[in-house]
Amino acid sequence: MAIELPALPYAPSALAPHLSAATLELHHGGHHRGYVEQTNRLLEGSGLEDLPLEQIVRRARGRLAEQAAQAWNHGFYWTCLAPRGGGEPDGRLGELLARQYGDFAHFREEFTRMALGLFGSGWVWLVERPDGTPGIVATRGAATPLTGPDLPLLACDVWEHAYYLDRQNARADYLEAFWKVVDWEAAGKRLR
Ligand code: MN
Repeated sequence: MAIELPALPYAPSALAPHLSAATLELHHGGHHRGYVEQTNRLLEGSGLEDLPLEQIVRRARGRLAEQAAQAWNHGFYWTCLAPRGGGEPDGRLGELLARQYGDFAHFREEFTRMALGLFGSGWVWLVERPDGTPGIVATRGAATPLTGPDLPLLACDVWEHAYYLDRQNARADYLEAFWKVVDWEAAGKRLR
């Protein structure tokens, strides 16, 4: 059973001008599709063919683990963004972030600092720790919190392909754009 490329949950132009249609088309239709196709190629004969993607990510090793993690990470990333996103989280997530980081501005500062400080390609995540507190985690390459005890709430792709067309090498400008399209409602609903 092959895994499938999930459709973007909005039109490619829906996050413009923050993330352009060209970026979304290349990122989803090129990079994300490539990870899905590579995963399906490597799945053949692996013994993991019949598992859902989350289980493949947790059980695979080597190249299959990397491709499957990138397939899952990207599917998750698209659901972290929304055309009417941005602003600040309210409700329980807003309270948790304020308790842990002082206020939302400090959380955002710390997340951004980790995103800009991550050398090379990777991801920065807001997660819910097993003890219920929020945390910020940076992962290198294809690595994903899905393989550990933390529950991912929000992901920021900081591979250059996520922003190069729009922002060239300016990761800081991409982070500014990212905050304007974060879907806080979706992140809040993921809390345990
Ligand atoms: Mn990507």
